[in-house]
Amino acid sequence: MTGTLTNGTNGTGPHKPPADLDASKLIIRRAESLKAVPVWETLQFGETPTDHMLICTYDPINGWSNPEIKPYGPLSLDPVGSCLQYATNVFEGMKAYVGPNGNPRLFRPSRNMKRLETSAARLALPTFDSSELLKLIKQLVLLESRWIPDLPKYSLYIRPTIIGTRPKLSVAASNEAMLYVVLSPTGPYFPTGPRPLSLMAVSETARTWPGGTGGHKLGINYAPALLPQQIAAKRGYDQIVWLLGEDNRITEVGAMNVFAVVGRDDGDLDVMTPSLDGTILPGVTRASCLELLSAHPQSSVLPNIPPSTRIHVHERAITMEELTSWSAKGQLHELFGVGTAVIVAPIGKIGFQNTDVIPLDHPEGFGPVAGALMQRLSDIQTGKWEWEGWSVELSA
Ligand SMILES: *Cc1c(COP(=O)(O)O)cnc(C)c1O
Repeated sequence: MTGTLTNGTNGTGPHKPPADLDASKLIIRRAESLKAVPVWETLQFGETPTDHMLICTYDPINGWSNPEIKPYGPLSLDPVGSCLQYATNVFEGMKAYVGPNGNPRLFRPSRNMKRLETSAARLALPTFDSSELLKLIKQLVLLESRWIPDLPKYSLYIRPTIIGTRPKLSVAASNEAMLYVVLSPTGPYFPTGPRPLSLMAVSETARTWPGGTGGHKLGINYAPALLPQQIAAKRGYDQIVWLLGEDNRITEVGAMNVFAVVGRDDGDLDVMTPSLDGTILPGVTRASCLELLSAHPQSSVLPNIPPSTRIHVHERAITMEELTSWSAKGQLHELFGVGTAVIVAPIGKIGFQNTDVIPLDHPEGFGPVAGALMQRLSDIQTGKWEWEGWSVELSA
């Protein structure tokens, strides 16, 4: 008997090692009656669960249970469960789109899976093989494919979640967990066309800080942001620009990564976004924007951007003082936020120290770079533009 193969004995012989997450063990228990899908145009984000959810649990003796797809419904949790007391909650946000032939598609899903693994590891939650989780998500999406609205700018939002369920009040890593995935159809972020965001820059509260958890997708990064967001809304702003440090570096806007487009003296464009220093969430949309911008014009020309326009991509700190000075010199062409929910959101102004920083280009809609990224990303996600295998087609 060796330690790596057993968990000790209880007098009846060796135990099996804890099981890995295994998609081949999936059990499907279908809902007895299916809901009618809503009129898509009336959808509110995240308010309409589909018929089924995926769920499995972990305990240190048995490991991961057989995954199950079952009717959507409430969970049963111990009142002192780790997630309820100590916020051991991590999640992902992904979308499924309908492709040209009617098959569902996912966008770079392996990236979300890897990020979920690192988020769970950061909170000392049980580990799992995320390629098995991706197989399970594909099966869930295929089963629920009638819930993917076949309308432009609509999609099926996917929310994989892991919560710690260790039922003890003592503070320790949760060696029990529940992993589940729920789905919700969703419409365009801006139903009436792009409306540039009006943002309030905030330096007195921080979303993240050096050594903090802002580089992971954890529930705890969200709760403290709700009050500042509410205050910004009362003052008439859509969202917050989170500043950090004495030099007022911009980190993110709301829960999106942020980009600035700055005109250079030689006529080229500098496109910049804060570097991944641990305070920035490593967005899949952010990475995709950087790759598409770097490919222009050599390997792929962005829509409506002349091939003669040279784009220089920079991952670097951006301070409010720099934005203000570029704006004063007429060099600040565009500001925009990016993320799975919105894809690309133009920023119309940033309120900072009693003045508004306003980008030059198209404060009433998409500027050329934001618009090009929005169109190209949407076309890749819906399978209209093939690029680097980013869009993964699902078929039964
Ligand atoms: C999820 C998230 C983003 C966007 O990441 P995507 O992978 O592009 O969806 C950006 N910032 C924060 C804080 C986030 O939680």
